[in-house]
Amino acid sequence: MSSPGDDLVRPSRDRFEAAGVRALAMTMVDNGGITRVKAVPIARLERAATNGVGMAYIWAAAGTDDLFADVAPFDNPSGDMRLVPDLGAARILTAAPGWAWAPVDQLSQELEPVPACQRTALRRTVEAARAAGLELRATFEIEATLLDADGRPAHEGPGYSTTAFTLLEGFLLDLVEALEASGVEVEQFHPEYAPGQFEVSVAARDPLAAADTFVFMRTQMRFAARRHGFRVSFAPTALAGEVGNGCHAHLSAWRDGANLMQGGDGPAGMTDAGAAALAGVLEALPGLLAVLAPSPAAYLRLQPHHWAGAYACWGVENREAAVRFIPGTVTSRERSANFEVKVGDGGANPYLVMALLAAAAADGVDRGLAPPEPVQDDPSTLGRDELARRGITRLPTSLADATGLFEGSDLARRVLGDVLHGAFAAVRRRECETHGALGEEELADAYRWRY
Ligand code: GLU
Ligand code: MG
Repeated sequence: MSSPGDDLVRPSRDRFEAAGVRALAMTMVDNGGITRVKAVPIARLERAATNGVGMAYIWAAAGTDDLFADVAPFDNPSGDMRLVPDLGAARILTAAPGWAWAPVDQLSQELEPVPACQRTALRRTVEAARAAGLELRATFEIEATLLDADGRPAHEGPGYSTTAFTLLEGFLLDLVEALEASGVEVEQFHPEYAPGQFEVSVAARDPLAAADTFVFMRTQMRFAARRHGFRVSFAPTALAGEVGNGCHAHLSAWRDGANLMQGGDGPAGMTDAGAAALAGVLEALPGLLAVLAPSPAAYLRLQPHHWAGAYACWGVENREAAVRFIPGTVTSRERSANFEVKVGDGGANPYLVMALLAAAAADGVDRGLAPPEPVQDDPSTLGRDELARRGITRLPTSLADATGLFEGSDLARRVLGDVLHGAFAAVRRRECETHGALGEEELADAYRWRY
């Protein structure tokens, strides 16, 4: 039996050999949010692409501490899956000479997707939206904290300053060159607000490519940091008491080649369908928060005045709203108008984030939803009555609360299927049990190097 990627083996091998690649690193992201890797020498490329490499089935239940939640059907040590690299999405790991990278699909020994394959859930969702005439374009904006070998931040601010920039420029330049050499379209990069923090933004793609690119970029970032004597933390709160690392997801909905987020008579110049996509995401957001902000540490970050979007509302360029609508410059609007979901962080599984946001957007369009009035104020300054009158709610303030809403989310269950939905919730419950009672410093310490 042949595999879907068979015809890609020969061109991939030629491309890898021309680039001096000696081994292929293959990654999946589990329900804990950890990127797991298996590697093969290039001589084994064909076999890996045809048969996959083995991995225990129970990784679907793994938490950030490498221990497993007790949830069927992952509650016993039996069962194997095949990790099959998608060579169509492979890239040269230019920051680690000698290596290439590819994302994997998690298949059964019959080479069918296993129910817990997060990447398959995303592919399925994108295909369903496409079949309904809706294209989604997406990207993740990566914020991360750079620490030196002694755990000191690579800069002390001020935020966005040339002072910080001067200390980061060698690392940033090498990183961006490595990303571009591997085909990633970098849009901009800069030192961020908190000590040691930086950010890289890349062009929007289809949601599956966006999730793959996110995993690839973080791998490149780790290697580039190491070459400069740094380590990079993607934890939501790398340093207790500081503004955290977000991983904002940007989305736009398109139909027949036109960006629905602009050029219409709807709110803020959106078309009605574009506004419906935004409304679908906003409505689903509380039930999806456990996916976007999946650790107890995430809730240290998700606070008012942190530009992390602690309130379920949307606004035009409002950095305190969970959904920030970005109309874009008049000269680029047709291409660039989009909305940003601010609540996510680097502990999230990018495949699940994109699957659920894409499904929520498509659901909004399908149901013809209209968003509430935009919010342009800082919601935390509004009184209780005013919040209630305008239908603005605070998002859950703990992983336990967010998990309860996720368990009750019909959308999440429908998109992920019972097995993946159940395993993901069980991992969250375990994460609450193991880390939920920790103080701020302990939480930051527990998650700093997990993602
Ligand atoms: N660091 C902030 C966060 O936690 C975001 C800052 C910004 O808006 O870029 O999401
Ligand atoms: Mg930022």
